[in-house]
Formats: sequence, structure tokens, C-alpha cells
Amino acid sequence: MMPLVIAVDGPAAAGKGTLARRLAAQYGLPYLDTGLLYRAVGRRVLDAAGDPRDAAVAEAAARALRPEDLQRGDLRGPPADDAASNVAAHPGVRAALVDFQRSFAARAGAVLDGRDIGTVIFPDAPVKLYVTASPAARAHRRWLEVSARDPLVTLASLTAEMAARDAGRDAAPMKPAEDAMVLDTTALDADAAFAAAVALVAEKLDRPDLTN
Ligand code: C5P
Repeated sequence: MMPLVIAVDGPAAAGKGTLARRLAAQYGLPYLDTGLLYRAVGRRVLDAAGDPRDAAVAEAAARALRPEDLQRGDLRGPPADDAASNVAAHPGVRAALVDFQRSFAARAGAVLDGRDIGTVIFPDAPVKLYVTASPAARAHRRWLEVSARDPLVTLASLTAEMAARDAGRDAAPMKPAEDAMVLDTTALDADAAFAAAVALVAEKLDRPDLTN
């Protein structure tokens, strides 16, 4: 039997990271935050004083990616955010990371969170969640997170930044897989979102016992 793969896709700050981690714990599956792959590729490019907008340089960095790169301590914060979003726009980078993501789940299944898990990486995943929230709710959540580190950051600037990022995706446009279950977390806290997701997974697998 194919090991269970749960694809969790959606835009930034919709709550999918927290949710995916909790689903992985619930079902005893390995968890992969695929954003870290793009972050680590961006970091490799910056380390070599390269330009993340250069497709050839970014693709070479993606081919050189090693699992230990995901353990780096400098994958978050503005330079890594920018480098990641630039490298993620190159189709060659995305193609170079497909095998890494598929082999991660090959042995024991996995919960993977990202943008194109249900559409490109695992189009046959038995469970696909598309986690979303209103732009205002997502900007507010991002603001709560960022303002803890940077008290000068404004909600308005984060709202604008997020809208620009959402709009600027060509290589892997943000859309749910046709067979994805959409979970809108605008009015849900983390516990309520988790409970809703568990109910959807159980329904999809036709396993009511999984809700307990
Ligand atoms: O989710 P996170 O912010 O860590 O993602 C880092 C960058 O990688 C973002 O720009 C995001 O759009 C991109 N990404 C992607 N495909 C994924 C995961 C992340 O293009 N599967």
C-alpha cells in the first residue's frame, strides 16, 4: 500500500505550517516544510555572493541542495525571505526540488506543506488540504509574528508586501488542486483549525475513528 501523503497547500500566514505539524504528530507521519527548501537554496546563492534572480545560478544551487542545509539557523528573516521568493520563481529550481520532496515521503509517507504539493509534487495524494484565510487576517497574523522581532513594522506595509508576493507567482501559481478540501481559517484559532482539518481528513479517508 502507498504510504499516506497529506498535502497542505496555501498562501503565506494562513496557518498551514502549524496545522501541518500538528497533523503529522496526530498521524505519526514525517513532516516537511517545503518552504525551507527554497529558503536553503536562496541561502546557498547568497553564500556564493550570487543573485537569486539569476535562473542558472539558482538552479545550480538547487541541484547542490543537501538535507543538512535545512538545519541551518539562518533560513528565516528578510534576506532569506527575499532570496527564497526569488529562487522559487525559476521553473528550473522548482524542477530540481521535485525528487527531494517525493523521496522524503517515499518510505513512511509524510505531511508536506507548501504551495504546489497537491498540484505538482503529489498530484495523487489521497488527502489534500488547501488552507487559506482572508488577506486581512493573514496580514494581521504576519504582523503579530514580525512585530515581536521588529516593533517598527506596520500592518500596512505587511499587507502591501503580502499582496505583491501573492500576485508575483508565475512558476507555480497559487491555486488549490481540483480535489483539494478548502479550509478557511479566517475565523478559526489554531485549535479550531486543527479540529476542522482532522474532521476533513477522517471524512476523506472514510475513517471516522481517526477523529479521536
Ligand atoms: O512558506 P515560506 O515562507 O517558508 O516559503 C518561502 C518561499 O518559498 C516563499 O516565497 C514561497 O512562496 C516559496 N515556496 C514555494 N513553493 C513551496 C514552498 C514555498 O514556491 N512549496
